[in-house]
Amino acid sequence: MWYAFWANSPTLLSATCLLLGLVIGSFLNVVIHRLPKMLEAEWQQNCQPEDDSTHTLLTPPYNLMTPGSHCPQCETAIQAWQNIPLLSYVLLAGRCHLCKTRISPRYPLVELSTGLLFAFLSWHFGWSVQLAGYLAFTAVLIALSCIDADTQLLPDSLTLPLLWGGLLFNLITATIPLQDAVLGAMAGYVVLWLVFHGFKLITGKEGMGYGDFKLLAALGAWLGWSMLPLIILLSSLVGAVVGIALIFLTKRGRGQPLPFGPYLAAAGWITLLWGKDMVAWYLHGY
Ligand SMILES: [Zn+2]
Repeated sequence: MWYAFWANSPTLLSATCLLLGLVIGSFLNVVIHRLPKMLEAEWQQNCQPEDDSTHTLLTPPYNLMTPGSHCPQCETAIQAWQNIPLLSYVLLAGRCHLCKTRISPRYPLVELSTGLLFAFLSWHFGWSVQLAGYLAFTAVLIALSCIDADTQLLPDSLTLPLLWGGLLFNLITATIPLQDAVLGAMAGYVVLWLVFHGFKLITGKEGMGYGDFKLLAALGAWLGWSMLPLIILLSSLVGAVVGIALIFLTKRGRGQPLPFGPYLAAAGWITLLWGKDMVAWYLHGY
């Protein structure tokens, strides 16, 4: 079969997934950068009165494909050789070829993390239908984490497909029973909704956003309702540690809301890999 190469050699599979991750990571950078701007433009358009169409007609198209990649400073188009994931950043020494403006190290970091996480997933799960699903799952989680960290938003255009994708994944692969996935999606949303309104009732503050409910619903769809307590526990732990560190390091006010999405995403990813072991260890002590 055409895929015997990858099915039989874990090393080759991991190497391929590493490269695939670098390329996907490069695309995720575009999503992370442009999706919030696209949403903002959409909201502004929707807020304009009906007859004021002059402004919208003059706006050049802006989406994930157009305009092509360019330097945000001097607007020079980025050549193909400057668009190779990771390698170009090293070749360009982290600066625009023309105007020498610094390129944010976030770009190669997203590419590298996507590559490494993809390689790790392929090594952990091996050649399987599940692997394809988990690569997509991971890519969306990376995009959501970065967008939430930047803008405190978890766009519906990512959380909802992630949710449907999880249900479809378990419908096709039966990795977990479909009932568990459906219940997971519902319970994930309801649990955080209750926490949100309880917290608001007691403190008068809003601790998180509706995007967080949808993200936990999506994680429930992928991993099943029984993993939800672990996800919430892990995300609170990671969130508390990072939150406290941030308060000390950056002297951020304690009242300032911290994005919860990245912690949920990280907890969901850890649960995907080791959730069953952790629950078994907790329940049976081995
Ligand atoms: Zn430039």
